[in-house]
Amino acid sequence: MLDSGELSRYSRNILLSGVGRAGQERLKSASVLVIGAGGLGSPVLLYLAAAGVGKLRFLENDSLDVTNLQRQILYNSQDVGAAKGEVARKKLQALNPSIEVDWRAERFQASNAQEALKGMDLVIETTDSIPAKFLTNDASFFARVPSLIGGILRFHGTVIAPGFSKSIVGRPCYRCLFPGPPSEDAVPTCADAGVLGAMAGMVGSAMAAEALKILLGLGKPLSGHLIQFEMLESRFRAIPFAADPNCPLCGTSPSIHDLRDESQSMEGSFLDRLPSGSDLSS
Ligand SMILES: [Zn+2]
Repeated sequence: MLDSGELSRYSRNILLSGVGRAGQERLKSASVLVIGAGGLGSPVLLYLAAAGVGKLRFLENDSLDVTNLQRQILYNSQDVGAAKGEVARKKLQALNPSIEVDWRAERFQASNAQEALKGMDLVIETTDSIPAKFLTNDASFFARVPSLIGGILRFHGTVIAPGFSKSIVGRPCYRCLFPGPPSEDAVPTCADAGVLGAMAGMVGSAMAAEALKILLGLGKPLSGHLIQFEMLESRFRAIPFAADPNCPLCGTSPSIHDLRDESQSMEGSFLDRLPSGSDLSS
């Protein structure tokens, strides 16, 4: 039940058609795992905390570098050198003291992925690690938890939503688009190629809004689509992608049966299969 303080705090949510008190209570009882609290993770965590998602768990084990401040809006100049997770946890808890914020100072790996996903309704991947995107995909597929996977680079952004329905979770999946990680030099990082800081806000906010849609059961889910943001062309589009029967994870004769840590240098046909103009690293 929502108390009077919560009814005031969330009044602009509750007014929305399709949300109401019941929807807000649904958010209060929801649990979301966010992998990373950087450029994309900042708006994702801030908006989900503000919206009243009852339990936010996030994994982050970096300390804040001065170069992060250009886009990672959870942090201030005085936080440089501090553990990002500790700063983020305090900030999120200050924004909304009534939610539970569970920070884990861990990297997302095959060894802790299952435990991190336990009890979660949704997992949102926001890091600059390609192996973490594959692991999120695989872990959410095995745990039957819907996922959103994001990336930004230069003036581009992408959100990929593996498919889910009542009966099937995780098909089509990220590996239907990209069977394995690209070679290391195939995908530049923000540290190599730069990124417009506002892209983190744009793409992260889209991920947060999609997450709220999923938790509330509102509208048409992005499920089985990717959204491309091409800022220089002012072009934003949602593109469906199909399940690949030969997918090593969700295909008809899968070769992946448990969680693994991919190495970034494993060969793959990554860029060839990506719809033109998008990049998947942040
Ligand atoms: Zn697949």
